[in-house]
Amino acid sequence: MTSKTSATIEDYLGLIYISERDGDTITGTRLAELLAVTAPTVTNTLKRMVRDGLILMDATHCPHLTPKGDQLARTVMRRHMLAEWMLIRMLSWSKVHHEAHGFEHTISEEVERALLQDLNQPETCPHGNPLPGHEAAVSAWVPLTLLKAGDNVTIRRIHELAESIPELLAFLEEKNIEPGQKVKVVEVLPFNQTVTLNVCENLVTLGFTTARQIFVEV
Ligand SMILES: [Zn+2]
Ligand SMILES: [Zn+2]
Repeated sequence: MTSKTSATIEDYLGLIYISERDGDTITGTRLAELLAVTAPTVTNTLKRMVRDGLILMDATHCPHLTPKGDQLARTVMRRHMLAEWMLIRMLSWSKVHHEAHGFEHTISEEVERALLQDLNQPETCPHGNPLPGHEAAVSAWVPLTLLKAGDNVTIRRIHELAESIPELLAFLEEKNIEPGQKVKVVEVLPFNQTVTLNVCENLVTLGFTTARQIFVEV
């Protein structure tokens, strides 16, 4: 199914899928920023995607997946997450997203099925993001920005948009901020837009931009 779709189109599909899943819309400007391409490039690619029946543009020029686009996006997302699980056996946690990005476009239906079975039908990726159709598995987790000083929580999820920033993932890995890690909230300062955590007896301060992308189990 994906062999007819280019890797570029699959990247667009993935980003549009994530924003729709989260109840947001994504603009062409934001796509250009996330994909590090120019606005005219985005406009042209979106036109091709409309032509191929993968998306529809709304009145504010934001793309929305058609049922066909949605199905393709889910396949790409699932294969990306399975590739991450495959790679985490050999690579560090902060590196698998980037590497899986190359693999996801070449995984066949047969390999996908084999991986799902081999990995025991995972509901999330190694960063805690839900495989398409498993959103309920993560719905109880809340972003760090909603916590208060004194809360003891377990890190569960680093959102896909944070996954795509290698420096941020390397920082979080170095500070032991990974799914499964127990942390204590030391301070939440809305006027300063910071959250300070005690992680393994070390204090780590995060800005709200990052803290919003980190979800915990209370
Ligand atoms: Zn990823
Ligand atoms: Zn992931």
